[in-house]
Amino acid sequence: MSKFRVPMSQPDISEGEREAMLGVLDTPRLSMGKFTDAFEADARAYTGAKHAVAVASGTAGLHLCVRAVGIAAGDLVLTTPFSFVASSNVMLYEKAVPVFVDAEAVSGNIDVVQLAEAAADLKAGGERAARWLPRKGAEGAGPLKAILAVDVFGQPADYEAIQRIADEHGLAVIEDSCEAIGAEYKGRKAGLLGDMGVFAFYPNKQMTTGEGGMIVTDDGAAAETMRALRNQGRAPGDTWLQHEFLGYNYRLPEMSAALGQLQMRRLDELLEKRAQVAAWYAEQLGGQPMIERPVILPETTRMSWFLYVVRLGVGLDRDGVIRELESRGIPSRPYFAPIHLQPYMREQFGYQAGDFVVAEELGGRGLALPFSSVMSEDQVALVCRDVLEVVKAGS
Ligand SMILES: *Cc1c(COP(=O)(O)O)cnc(C)c1O
Repeated sequence: MSKFRVPMSQPDISEGEREAMLGVLDTPRLSMGKFTDAFEADARAYTGAKHAVAVASGTAGLHLCVRAVGIAAGDLVLTTPFSFVASSNVMLYEKAVPVFVDAEAVSGNIDVVQLAEAAADLKAGGERAARWLPRKGAEGAGPLKAILAVDVFGQPADYEAIQRIADEHGLAVIEDSCEAIGAEYKGRKAGLLGDMGVFAFYPNKQMTTGEGGMIVTDDGAAAETMRALRNQGRAPGDTWLQHEFLGYNYRLPEMSAALGQLQMRRLDELLEKRAQVAAWYAEQLGGQPMIERPVILPETTRMSWFLYVVRLGVGLDRDGVIRELESRGIPSRPYFAPIHLQPYMREQFGYQAGDFVVAEELGGRGLALPFSSVMSEDQVALVCRDVLEVVKAGS
């Protein structure tokens, strides 16, 4: 028995999806077969992308994007510290250097005003570049190759501005859309807002395959490279033990692809249910000045709710609130712990508290509440009653 009265997150799996997954076990191919092909075809249809490559996880997808763009040892990539660690780790896998630009306070997405400055300064080099580089770990690094932006909590970053900056400086744009499948920016689908985008299907995401991810892109050459890298570097048509490049086993099992295909067909329904849960939260948490609800920017023409993250008022002890909620059987989580302050990042690059003040402030006040598409209005009410009481007592 869990000590919690409501789960933090919960997948939404239908009877048909269970049966489809089991049915795969009756087929001769459990990897790289027709379910993967069909899942990719559905991902192309859903997003309108020319190419879709199914992979073992969102992180694997981002890593393949980094490889496909040609990011190598010492290259610089502009990105945000207000994200899940995977979005920066994929640079470290290639010994490239993530160069952080702080978040913008309303959405939590990368601040495009600072991004423009950082790109110009890094291209100029010297003193100007030094302002953006980490205290250590970037000696002799360069050039600036790409921007990796993250669609935080299901809200796309400002890609019109990002693309303008990328065009001006000749940079690739990778979209970490692992939290934003189905979202739209000015009527355009998330995942296709940069040169290539990645969705993730871990069980707490909007749709799940257990573990899994999907890369979408209009770039045929990049897609072909990523297909080869996913499969141990085998070029298309290569014989079984012929390997063109150093690759990985980033393949998605057929069982997961079968589940993913059906989940994707239900994605709009799943997103609508999540939007309803978010609306219940917004309604019930309104009127408490110490709880700031998420703000949806006008350019986000469709939100894809990944989590429901509120910001506690300044002066409230967030970790105390988490402990008190836990003692009442309500799970909650701090979101995000900024990447630059993770121990291995501090050690490698010398980052310190105070380096990215907005990311730290958002990270210090953000509280993710229980959230899923299967949550009922009563469950939301149960959570909100305790949240309101605990916040009031702590104010
Ligand atoms: C979930 C997530 C990922 C990675 O997904 P996995 O499938 O767990 O590897 C990457 N970036 C962000 C922002 C995420 O939320």
